Amino acid sequence: MKTVLITGASRGIGAGCAALFAERGWRVLANYNSSAEAAEALRQKTGCALYRADVADSAQVLAMRNAIEADGLFPDVLINNAGRALFGLFQDIKPEDARAMYDVNLFGTLNCCRAFLPGMISRKGGCIINISSVWGEVGASCEADYSAAKAAVIGLTKALAKEAGFCGVRVNCIAPGIIDTDMNASLSAEDISAIVDEIPMERLGTPRDVAEAAWFLASDAASYITGATVDVNGGWT
Ligand code: NAP
Repeated sequence: MKTVLITGASRGIGAGCAALFAERGWRVLANYNSSAEAAEALRQKTGCALYRADVADSAQVLAMRNAIEADGLFPDVLINNAGRALFGLFQDIKPEDARAMYDVNLFGTLNCCRAFLPGMISRKGGCIINISSVWGEVGASCEADYSAAKAAVIGLTKALAKEAGFCGVRVNCIAPGIIDTDMNASLSAEDISAIVDEIPMERLGTPRDVAEAAWFLASDAASYITGATVDVNGGWT
């Protein structure tokens, strides 16, 4: 049975990935941070194993890896999904708020790659899927720091793909467009309608849409794909 570790799996896209991989017979290790109740509900629904850690804290990530290994488990696939939004004019953003966002979206991804890539390299196989964003590709007004963090994740993906490919480890990225999750809960109905007007597929994305792309990248069908960024945005950009 193959094993996937998904960070930020308590809600949204991460929970969607956990449900899909579990349905298709994988052992799912679900990381969460603050949403213990949602994580427990996911465990009851999917049979996943839960591991709490703040991915921004490298010590907690290493402790999570040690706990997973102590359970005799070694992820074949790591999905770096944990993330948070940060909206506002660049000059109005408080440095500490920007730092907290980079700590999760960029350093959280780095921390998990550092913790789990060596094991994949020594086992001569594995797959990392980083969740970036359309904004990491094209930039967003009022989300400059978020766009920068997500662009860095794309750069990291390309570089690690080059470094780890010869060991049979693939590293890819998904760049979602607007996905219907808590992250967009502050958007008004008018905002959503205006966005949908710009999307050729005429709807928001769902966590399942992103999970299907992750499923493909994790599968043997994608065995010659590495360093890629897959857009899941309904043709938006
Ligand atoms: P969401 O519904 O707000 O869920 C965020 C998830 O990340 C939660 O499970 C949360 O866990 C987890 N998380 C946050 N900080 C964490 C930390 N320090 N350590 C561990 N887990 C942490 O967001 P989402 O829309 O599913 O977003 C998932 C990913 O997709 C993010 O990287 C986001 O940037 C990216 N993305 C989203 C969209 C979109 O439109 N929704 C578009 C492009 C990219 P707890 O609640 O347990 O803390």
